[in-house]
Amino acid sequence: MNRDLSLLQTAPLNPAKPRHRTREVAVGGLVIGGDNPIRVQSMTTSDTFNVAETVAQIKRLEEAGCELVRVTVPKPEDAATLTQVREQIGIPLICDIHFDYKMALMALDHPVDKIRINPGNIGGYDRFRQIIRKAKDRGLPMRIGVNAGSLERELVEKYGYPCPPAMVESAIRYIEIAEAEGYHQMIVSLKSSDVPTVVEAYRLYAQLCDYPTHIGVTEAGKPPYAVTKSAAGLAPILLDGIGDTIRISLLGDPVPEIYAAFDILQATQRRVRRPELIACPTCGRLAIDLEDIIAKLEKRLEGRTTAIKISVLGCVVNGPGEAKEADIGIAAGNGKGVIFRNGEIVRHVVEAEMVDALLEEVDTWERDQIAAKADGKVTRRDARKQLPMVRG
Ligand code: SF4
Repeated sequence: MNRDLSLLQTAPLNPAKPRHRTREVAVGGLVIGGDNPIRVQSMTTSDTFNVAETVAQIKRLEEAGCELVRVTVPKPEDAATLTQVREQIGIPLICDIHFDYKMALMALDHPVDKIRINPGNIGGYDRFRQIIRKAKDRGLPMRIGVNAGSLERELVEKYGYPCPPAMVESAIRYIEIAEAEGYHQMIVSLKSSDVPTVVEAYRLYAQLCDYPTHIGVTEAGKPPYAVTKSAAGLAPILLDGIGDTIRISLLGDPVPEIYAAFDILQATQRRVRRPELIACPTCGRLAIDLEDIIAKLEKRLEGRTTAIKISVLGCVVNGPGEAKEADIGIAAGNGKGVIFRNGEIVRHVVEAEMVDALLEEVDTWERDQIAAKADGKVTRRDARKQLPMVRG
């Protein structure tokens, strides 16, 4: 095989792709799209009309970090409780409507912050127009939530099956109807339970539209497989720079959806909210009790929001290399270790001192970063040719 290595000279050194440029759409007090952090959302599983249960679930979601919440509104009694729910929660409230456009009109009489409709099942263009006009009058944003499982029959027939082009064409039809009404406060989702379909649908959409995207793999099923499946579908999209708000659809209690969403954002470095711990899987070369050290470090780093990379490897094979590349790192061997800060050796420690010493170095690193920023200096983190960490 002839290998043309000139390719390596022209390949970008920085693998990070910029965010897909999207407009900003306000949802309550939050702004979605543009350069704003990718917002994490979820949906309640209670009967919405059961106000106590719905509010209690939303409070638990809020505590976990949920930034927007959606409730289903299938019946007039659900719509009737939206005001009460809204008054008792601290995050924007989204009403989720399927099939009955009258429920959408009814829900919009209440102080919701956004409406989500599924264009494939809302009953046609005229009914959609009525919802758009009311949302516009109320100054409220709308998610056009295309779902491969409920595409317009005509589009399924045109393309043969609910494929990415059919999904994007469905979204664009409704977007253009809304635009003709002078309405632009849209957020778009193109969901499927099929991972390749999700990835390609969002990629196709991003070439054609600049309304912010709500991303997710729908009906991912039961964790832990559902989390892996969601990560498999969302990582390529996020790494392409697509996605302005995210929902992980897990069977059962919605709170784990929030943890999964933040983990996926952290791993793809699209929204980093805590230190990144790099640890080796261990093998027969292991020279320290790595599991114990990592468990203690994790516990003591809990609650920190610093976007710092900390590398803790069990022996000298990759230890020094990873430690130099991380912000703080330790290369261990035979019950001892060498600690690096910003690529330089700063101290030698024995195993019993490692956790305390690493945490002291993290503190020093944080202080240095704050001082460098105050002086207007470019920090090592900003200068490195690695993926830029998006904080927030
Ligand atoms: Fe094994 Fe060393 Fe690699 Fe850890 S860093 S997996 S101990 S070779």
